[in-house]
Amino acid sequence: MTDASGADLILVGDVYTVDAARSWARAVAVRGDRIVAVGTEEQVRERVGGATEVLTGACIVPGFQDSHIHAAFAGRIRLNVNLDDLHDRQAYLDRIAAFAHAHPDRPWIVGGGWYNPIFGDHGPHRRDLDAVVPDRPVFLMNTDTHAAWVNTKALEFAGIGADTPDPWDGYYVRDPDGMPAGCLQEGAAYTFWARHVPGGSVDDWGAAIAEAQRYLHALGITGYQDAWVEEDLLRAYRAVDDAGELTMRVVTSLWWDRHQGMEQIDGLVERRAWGAGGNVHTNTIKLMLDGCPETCTASMLAPFEGRFGEQHGRGIQFVDAETLIEAAVRLDALGFQLHQHALGDRAVRSALDAVAAAREANGMNDARHHVAHLQLPDPADVARMRDLGVIANIQPYWACPDEMTETLTKPRVGERASRLYPVGDLVRSGAVLAFGSDWPVSTPDPWREIEVAVTRQVVGEPDGEVLRPAQRIDLATAVAAFTGGSAYLNHDDDGGSIHEGARADLVVLDRNPFAADVHEIHTTRTVATLASGRVVYQA
Ligand SMILES: [Zn+2]
Repeated sequence: MTDASGADLILVGDVYTVDAARSWARAVAVRGDRIVAVGTEEQVRERVGGATEVLTGACIVPGFQDSHIHAAFAGRIRLNVNLDDLHDRQAYLDRIAAFAHAHPDRPWIVGGGWYNPIFGDHGPHRRDLDAVVPDRPVFLMNTDTHAAWVNTKALEFAGIGADTPDPWDGYYVRDPDGMPAGCLQEGAAYTFWARHVPGGSVDDWGAAIAEAQRYLHALGITGYQDAWVEEDLLRAYRAVDDAGELTMRVVTSLWWDRHQGMEQIDGLVERRAWGAGGNVHTNTIKLMLDGCPETCTASMLAPFEGRFGEQHGRGIQFVDAETLIEAAVRLDALGFQLHQHALGDRAVRSALDAVAAAREANGMNDARHHVAHLQLPDPADVARMRDLGVIANIQPYWACPDEMTETLTKPRVGERASRLYPVGDLVRSGAVLAFGSDWPVSTPDPWREIEVAVTRQVVGEPDGEVLRPAQRIDLATAVAAFTGGSAYLNHDDDGGSIHEGARADLVVLDRNPFAADVHEIHTTRTVATLASGRVVYQA
């Protein structure tokens, strides 16, 4: 106990501290941006002055940190056409039509959130969009942000036709006559987005950051790692922070451009220097190594199953192993944290080989490199994570037998599905675990994600199938992964747990999820969120 007299605020409830002993307390006192006391209600209250405000809830946990999120991008979609709460082709089209009708002055209709399984193997078609928006280009990212749905006007605008070849890092789904059907995969989608889609100015991004921050604070999130930050977005983070409006602690993963080589490193070092400050931390590089198995763009050690393998082989590796090793060794020597995106087993192996090469060249350090997604690692690579000091950056919401897993993943990977998301094995191996949502790929609500980590079932289907029961983890481990684990990944040694002297990032909840049935975890709601001692959300 330290002196809590003159505390600004006292929070009372079951306090799950996520300290090293996983201890519980009953009250927390906050002064300025710090936690100044943690203990029983009596202990904390007796040290309090008259001006102290008291906030009561059922449970209090550390502020959540999302270790892999596209918050600004998701905010941008929320400010445009957002389809992620719908689950039907016609509902999508109705909303797109209504948005276009309500915004006759916009030269483009932009948005996202459509779900792959709704359109089956072929993906969505431009004709459907042409029927509702015939007069201007439409560009809509899907939920996993690896594909885009465009109309004919958009293809015309970009000059894409039957004789346009596929880019090396993606492809156009095509009609039998060779004309792109309106579904762009991977590099085909990103390049289109970067070159043609308006709305990416520093001001646009600033509005998107503010929208995302508001939404995420309401879910108890007080810090995150933005998994894809290019120059304009970094400028926007800088501007929002300089204006004193960034209450979220943000780590920016500076984007490794796979169309360039080592010559980009000087520019990354410059961005690290001018981007950092206040709530913005810029010491991370994002290397995207592959796509995803659902579209046969993950990088695999063996070909996809049957006809998928005939067409797509072992998938796509965006950064070849040799370049990756050279980049990893150099970036590690410059003190950068590596954030590698790897879903397929070949991508995961390359990611770990790259860190191994960096360790060999530069020795062990505290860079806290991490590999995100880890959908289908080879079992031999699971144990390498701990040995190399690589954090497992997991998106737990995907690890269940949902429509995506059943209708798209399993047919493409066959019996390799028996290796999906080895979260339990990673914990047992001693690897550090951090959790993130990959929003807008999936919900950023930590409690929904945590429930899936605990049950490996689809939320709302308590009697449904369990995806690999041995890979379930307990609630305490899951909460720790989303708080202390992600804070560690984010180099935030002041956050992620509730103890005296820690930064006051706290979430007050309407119930104690430890007291509930595991299938009710997802119903937990935020009563209030504090970031650096400031109330940034109150229900
Ligand atoms: Zn991502």
